[in-house]
Amino acid sequence: MSKEEKNEVVKKMSDLMRSGAVMLEHTCPLCGLPLFRIKSGEVVCPVHGPVKIVKSEEEAVEAVSSAVLRELEKAIARKLHSYVELLAKEDINSSEMKDLIYLLDILERVRRIRKT
Ligand SMILES: [Zn+2]
Repeated sequence: MSKEEKNEVVKKMSDLMRSGAVMLEHTCPLCGLPLFRIKSGEVVCPVHGPVKIVKSEEEAVEAVSSAVLRELEKAIARKLHSYVELLAKEDINSSEMKDLIYLLDILERVRRIRKT
């Protein structure tokens, strides 16, 4: 985490406290920060927003893998976008075309895994 990111987290945590949120004993399964119960009753992480409190190791693993897959899907989508732009400009070479197909393949797999 960079210094700016840390400052951002500290700011979010103090904003939460100021708005009457209560710091809980539980920590975020994704980043390990303390979770807060906000006035609506919802449990939130200062970084990840609303999260479910996990009760078991299994649930924790599941939460982390689904977050990782979501990130992966986003990263692939961004990369695909850059190739699609090349394609639109008809400025794509055969190796980039192969990459594009490869990325689509990964994307399809990620989506399939996420559905299960
Ligand atoms: Zn978190």
